[in-house]
Parts: sequence; structure tokens; C-alpha cells
Amino acid sequence: MADIIQLLPDHVANQIAAGEVVQRPASVVKELLENAIDAGADVIKLIIKDAGKTLVQVIDNGKGMSHTDARMSFERHATSKIKRAEDLFQLSTKGFRGEALASIAAIAHVELKTKQELDDVGNAIVIEGSEVASQDIIVTPTGTSVSVKNLFFNIPARRNFLKSDNVELRHIIDEFYRVALAHPSIGFVLYNNGSESFNLPVSNYRQRIVNIFGNKTNEKLVPVNEDTEVLSISGFVGKPEFAKRTRGEQYFFVNNRFIKSPYLNHAITSAFEGLLKSGTHASYFLNLTVDPNTVDINIHPTKTEIKFDDEQTLYAILRSAVKHSLGQFNIAPVLDFDRDPNLDTPYSYKTNKTSAPKVEVDRSFNPFQEETKFKTNAVAYKKESPANWESLYVGLESKGNQNQEDFSSIQFETEEHSASIFDKDIQVEQSHTTYQLHNKYIVSAIKSGMLVIDQYRAHQRVLYEDYLKNLTVKEAASQQLLFPLELHFSTQDIEVIKQLKGDLEHIGFVFEIMSEEALGITGVPVGVPESEVSIILEQLVSDVQNEVPDSNFSASDLMAKSLAKSMAIKTGTALKKEEQEHLVNTLFACKEPNVSPTNRATFITMSVDELDKKFI
Ligand code: ADP
Ligand code: MG
Repeated sequence: MADIIQLLPDHVANQIAAGEVVQRPASVVKELLENAIDAGADVIKLIIKDAGKTLVQVIDNGKGMSHTDARMSFERHATSKIKRAEDLFQLSTKGFRGEALASIAAIAHVELKTKQELDDVGNAIVIEGSEVASQDIIVTPTGTSVSVKNLFFNIPARRNFLKSDNVELRHIIDEFYRVALAHPSIGFVLYNNGSESFNLPVSNYRQRIVNIFGNKTNEKLVPVNEDTEVLSISGFVGKPEFAKRTRGEQYFFVNNRFIKSPYLNHAITSAFEGLLKSGTHASYFLNLTVDPNTVDINIHPTKTEIKFDDEQTLYAILRSAVKHSLGQFNIAPVLDFDRDPNLDTPYSYKTNKTSAPKVEVDRSFNPFQEETKFKTNAVAYKKESPANWESLYVGLESKGNQNQEDFSSIQFETEEHSASIFDKDIQVEQSHTTYQLHNKYIVSAIKSGMLVIDQYRAHQRVLYEDYLKNLTVKEAASQQLLFPLELHFSTQDIEVIKQLKGDLEHIGFVFEIMSEEALGITGVPVGVPESEVSIILEQLVSDVQNEVPDSNFSASDLMAKSLAKSMAIKTGTALKKEEQEHLVNTLFACKEPNVSPTNRATFITMSVDELDKKFI
């Protein structure tokens, strides 16, 4: 077969945004998978050892390379995919820079084996740090295998900079998902440390999503299809009730390429307006097809950003297509898109009875007591929140009035009591006056001046210390569910939950792992509403995957942090006077009241002197 690779002229090469191609093992995975797809493979195997630090190998059954091309492929700006600058605007391939193999070969030990269909024998090339160590004729199947070993062997600083195996593996799996979702017509297999983690057969799009994210995903998907002159959309959005606290399952593909676009993401969010519980994110798997002439994928070296000629039109079409689907599948209450969406009641509201929010206060609370139970306090805030987010839509603020009574009997710690545990500087004034600013900060007068507390961070601190204590003493109270709750996760997530089982039990969860994809939950920590369980666990799994505890201590620490983050009253939640004061009191009863569990300030103070200075 004729040789097809040519060196790009300099001026073309320079037009291509330069960039660091390889940042971590996942970048290698992405580049190699894309090359295999460009080679027309229909089965692609990815083999990973030690999160790609020891080995990333991709084997494809694509068209292979000729003897000369095999050698040429490692030259910088050597590509068979574009020849002229204009080609950049007619891209039909993933690659086009001709930089990936050259960059990878510069920082790793690379072994390439390749054979074209009509050849009897193929080529094997070994390159170490850009130096060709050997090139041999070998017998090998049609297609290409590229093994990348000892990544960053010659740049120890970069190697040390890599995160733990868990984190790097997470990045690899993310890339794998993106590529696999964009190409359901290609079979993918992933082997991790010798065992098969994924085997995704050729299938349709829906089946591919289900094969990746678990069987239960099937019922969550709402199809979206729209065909217009400028754009066609196909794919799925997740039903609002399955919205996630983390942004994990959000995928846009433009002409089969995964992209990130906050602007288009906003189009989807606005289509879901009024349907999502606050703090949750809709899932989506959407393929957009546009004329390659109208997009520029060249603006970002990792090629996940893209520039559209007419973003506003795309935004409008996307938004209305998603709205339409939600309406058609009876998920959104109204089909009439011209109506002001603010007038609509969220669908879930209809089934809810209006009831006055209750606030429970731990009357036995005594900051002097070592074994203070903060738990009840947490419950008090949490119980408020479902009512609060609903009231955003239906203007039921007035219902709060009925509750005044409930508070009349509540006793708060008297000033003498609390004062002694506060730093001298931050004694809250006798009057207990607190004021909530922007549903975000609690402002209070203190002896020296003024105290401003970040409510979300402060509550995280309170809950964090509480959870941490439960994890250490291992006897947290659990609240039994009337009906066991069956929750579905991906196989990967279940693996993580398995590892955390002991700690989860210490904190009050009671559950069994029912299958590779399901948990049966019979008990939850006191104060955790049943409706939040799945979101909390999801957040926890994602936190664990993104940060790695190396000892038992930090495993509990991570879990306490994650739960505190999920359960804390959020910024934007209106708090009653009593709740504000209670939060202030519990915060200053903490061991480390001045920082949040992630080490950010929970409050600031401003002295009268400082205030005076501002008035000069
Ligand atoms: P690019 O993909 O941007 O062209 P690469 O450095 O990734 O640049 O690859 C250089 C060239 O090597 C490609 O243009 C292609 O011709 C060839 N090549 C790389 N991987 C494969 C593969 N798996 N099968 C066939 N050819 C390949
Ligand atoms: Mg490439």
C-alpha cells in the first residue's frame, strides 16, 4: 500500500494551537483510542496497569500502517489526516495535529506493532525517549497495537506530580466513557490490572449508555430527537427525579467528539427549569451533528472546547428540543412553551401535602458536656430544606408564620453559658441579634465589633465534627426505614461502596449489596431523609474516587467531609432567627470553629476600629 503520511508545512503546523498533549495517563488513553477510531477499527481493547503509570496499551483491528508510516508516525506534525490549512474546517477525524505519538514517544517507552491487511508481515518499533531502539519485521495480526510504558520516565517531576492510582484511573475511565459513548458502533473492552472491567459490545446508543452506567439507567432515559437545517440532535436526557448532585453524567458530543460547553449546558439547565431539586444536575447524553464547516475545534489543545459559528441558535434549538421531550414524555407539566414558566407548579409538588415546617431543637444541648449530641441540631436544619425549596416556586413564604408558636417554648443557651466557651473576641452580644444576609451569611454583633459567618461552611463544620465522632466511636444511631430502599449504581460505584461498607455502618447506614449494581438499604443515619440517601451516597462515591484516602483515618475523614457537604444547609437557604442563633452556638461549640472541613474560613470578624477606619 502507498505511504500516506506527510510532514505538514511549517505555516500549517503553526496554525495549529500548540499544547501539552500529555498531562497524565488519561491523555495517552484518549490519544491512542482516537487513533484507533480514526484507523477504522471496530473492536478496540484498552489495557491498563497501575492506573496507566506502568502500562497503557491500545489494540485495534483498524487499517494498520505501512513500513515507512510506522516510523513516520512518531515524527512531530506527521499526520495522514490533514494536508492543508483548509482541511481543518472539514475534519472528519479525531486527530489532525500529528503530535500525539511524537509527544508520547518523547516521555515514555513506546512499542508499536502494526500490519496492514494486504501485507503478510508487519512492523514492530521500539522508541524510548524519542530514540528509536529497534525496528523489526514481525508476524502480527492486522491492525495496530501501541504500548506506552513507564510514562514520564525521563521527567521525574511530572511523574511525581501524578495523583494516586484511584484518581488517575478515574480520569482514564472518564476518557474511556467519553470515547465509548461517542462510538456505540465500535466494540470496546477495558482490562484493568489483568481483569476485564468493561466489555461493551457493538450496540445502539441507548444500550451503550446502559452497558456503561448500569441496567437501571434504562428507565431513566428520555429520548431527545430534533432535526433542523443547522443542527440535528439525538440522544437522551435523564428524568428529573434521577438528577444527580454531582455533574458526572453530562455528555455533549459534537460530530462524535466529546466537548465541554458551559453555554450549551445552560441551555439544558434552563429546559429543566422548575423540575430539578436545587443543587442537583440533570444527566444528559446528547449528540449534536452540525456542518463541520460551522465549528472550530482547534481552539483548545485537548480538543474538548469548540467554537460554533451561531451559538445562540444552537442554544435555542437545544433548549426547546429538551423541553419538548420532557413535555412529550409527561415529565414537564406544560406543553405550551410560551407560558411563563414561573407560573408553573413543579410536577412533584402536586403530590405533596402542604405542611408547616417543623424545627426541632435539642433542649438538652449543653456545650459543657463532652458527649454533646450535635446530631439533633443537624436534623433541625435539614428538615427545613425540602419545604424551603418548594416554597421558592409557590410563594408560600407566609406559611412560616404559623410556626412562631413552635418556637415560643424553645430555650437557647443563655449568654453566660455560651460566652465562656467562645473566644473572648467573639462573644455574641447579649441581645442575640443575628441577621441573615443574602441567605448566605449570618451577621452578628460581638464585643469587639461584628461577626460574619458563612452559613454553609459553618454548618459543614458542625456536621463534620459530629460525623467524625460517630465514625470513631462507632455507635451512631441508625434510623430504620419502613420499607427497604433499593438503590442502583454502576458496577464501579458499587466497588467503592463495598470498600466503604464498614465506615458507612459506623455512621449509621445499614445495607447489603444485592448485586453488582444494586444496594438494599434498611437503615440510614438519624437525620438523613430517605429522599436524600441516593444523592448522598453518590456524592460520597464521587468524592472518594477523586481523592484518595491512604489510611483508615483519612477514609473516615473523607467520609465525614463528604456527608457534611451533602447534609449542610446550603447557601441560599433562608434561616429563621432561632436557626441562625442555633447555628452560631453549635459552631462555637466545635473543636475548630474557625475553619470549614476543607480548611476555609467559616467566619470573619470586623472590629469597631476597622469599621471606624472605613468611615474616615
Ligand atoms: P494525528 O492522529 O493527529 O494524525 P498522531 O501522532 O496521533 O497524530 O498519529 C500520527 C499518524 O500515525 C496518524 O495520522 C496515522 O496516520 C498514524 N496512526 C497512529 N495511530 C494509528 C493506528 N492505531 N492505526 C493506524 N494508523 C495510525
Ligand atoms: Mg492522533
